[in-house]
Amino acid sequence: MTLKERYKRFKAWQLNPFDWSFDESDRHHCENCGNDFSGNYCPHCSQKVGLNKISWKSVLQSTAEVWGMGNRSMLYSLWQLILRPGYFISDYINGKRQVSFPPVKMLVVMGVISVIIDNLFGMKKAATVKGDSSLVNQFFAWTKDSPGWGWLIMTCFFIIPTWCLFRYAPRNTKHTLPQDFFITVFMAVMVLIVDDLADFFGDYFYILLPLCYFYSYRQLFGYNFWGNFWRVAITLVSGFLLATLALTIAELLTTTPKSYADEFKAIGDLIFCSVVPILVGVYISKKTFKRREKKKETQNLEISDNDQTENNNQTENRTQES
Ligand SMILES: [Zn+2]
Repeated sequence: MTLKERYKRFKAWQLNPFDWSFDESDRHHCENCGNDFSGNYCPHCSQKVGLNKISWKSVLQSTAEVWGMGNRSMLYSLWQLILRPGYFISDYINGKRQVSFPPVKMLVVMGVISVIIDNLFGMKKAATVKGDSSLVNQFFAWTKDSPGWGWLIMTCFFIIPTWCLFRYAPRNTKHTLPQDFFITVFMAVMVLIVDDLADFFGDYFYILLPLCYFYSYRQLFGYNFWGNFWRVAITLVSGFLLATLALTIAELLTTTPKSYADEFKAIGDLIFCSVVPILVGVYISKKTFKRREKKKETQNLEISDNDQTENNNQTENRTQES
């Protein structure tokens, strides 16, 4: 197989990796309830096919189940999330729930695994500065112990920019805020993986963070390269500024600043710099959306026109024949 063919096959797999077809004639006998059936699960009691004999594999599986990793679907979900993130998230938010391990659970399990890795390999970064117990510092200390939730809160600041800037995207048009929440959970899992990699191999691995967003949103929302590029850039910068804004306000509420005027000016600047690019982005997106819709309409009209002329031709032919 040539490299090009391999790539083509990989692309096809990225778009649709699941094969739900099954052989009706392939009958199974359920050891649990005695039902005879075809398919992967007993329709009567829902026991899985192939669980019949207790073996060493069953011992391993039921031990792993404590961690919510009994079936390989958690590892398989992570694998999918790395190789086809945008399509995978798109499948999930559009109702293909069976394709993924429950995302929030996945985030929590990954968070626990990160903490274990940190503790085992002594990667834990220096704890908070002593004597400084401001709310903000307490928050950062807490995220060290529960990185899953920490990163989820951080990535939640991208929800509003994503929702605004990608509302008029070619794919997943007008996605909802709850859908955006699940997008964010999946992204947080990915960010957590990058965070672990950076702990191991060095901080320059954080360069993968923006790349993850570019790659995933490209597949998820279907903009072309540059359309995707500037929207993701605004999403990341605005999200970061919004997080800074939240921290500034939290600090202002919990401590007494040297000068209130400076603090308020900083807050005003942050709001301005995060909101204005989003508004401009939404304006442009809406325009391109309308243009795209118009194009579609005219294309549809042309197609129906063609159909009619073809029909007319056919009737003409028939009348000639008769
Ligand atoms: Zn059964």
